[in-house]
Amino acid sequence: MNLKGKKAIVTGGSRGIGKAVVLELASKGCDVVFTYHSSIEAAKSVESESDKFGVKIFGLQADASKYSEAEKTINFTLEKLGGLDILVNNAGITKDNLLIRMSEKDFDEVVSANLKSVFNYTKASLKQMISQRYGRVINISSVVAITGNPGQANYVASKSGVIGFTKSTAKELASRNITVNAVAPGYISTDMTEKLNDKQKEAIINLIPLKRIGTPEDVAKVVTFLASDQADYLTGQVISVDGGMAM
Ligand code: NAP
Repeated sequence: MNLKGKKAIVTGGSRGIGKAVVLELASKGCDVVFTYHSSIEAAKSVESESDKFGVKIFGLQADASKYSEAEKTINFTLEKLGGLDILVNNAGITKDNLLIRMSEKDFDEVVSANLKSVFNYTKASLKQMISQRYGRVINISSVVAITGNPGQANYVASKSGVIGFTKSTAKELASRNITVNAVAPGYISTDMTEKLNDKQKEAIINLIPLKRIGTPEDVAKVVTFLASDQADYLTGQVISVDGGMAM
């Protein structure tokens, strides 16, 4: 797979799945701008990998839940990389609680960071992608968007929204040669899932036919495939990367 000369934005690329996506794209020759919320040191460490791959990697602090920050990121990318071909909407958060105890603030913040962010970045990228008649948009959803999950009504609503947004925009943008697909990771080992205790982790592994927790690289490889010309005839799809958890 060769992404030499391609230019990408990855939201939330300082840690976890986003970081693995940045490095996987870079390993295929793609220049990347990634965003983060507050992890400056982690972001610097990702930037420092650029020499290894002989590509450009820039980190930018930008709150994905704000439209103006998405516009800022696109302008930064056009200035630093000179184009934009691939958008990976990855930034996301959890604020889990049973609905009876979930605050309005926790609902709003999760929906803004996980769903409105996808609107922000996709809309802000369109001018460039439409004018060049090429674009690859990959949205990170979740297996729980398909199955539901108690204690995550805000998160699941946001991730199901991402799937609906993916299908609608795929239909809307296909005539401009812009594909839009979603990846639905299962249980992946990152800071987001570190909060679970060993007993909870074991219970989850028992639900996974492939009997292991996923790695950020498992997800990054599928995202990179969707970004490549190997996936030119694929749009509006939701690809589960979950060890067989939801089938
Ligand atoms: P993570 O390790 O917690 O990393 C989250 C990343 O998103 C960080 O780079 C963080 O930046 C960034 N971020 C958070 N809020 C942001 C905001 N408002 N603006 C910009 N950046 C923001 O999470 P992860 O596990 O890699 O998850 C990545 C994506 O995969 C999320 O959308 C998540 O919902 C989804 N997912 C994860 C799993 C899993 O099992 N881990 C499963 C299904 C789906 P800072 O470093 O600055 O905080």
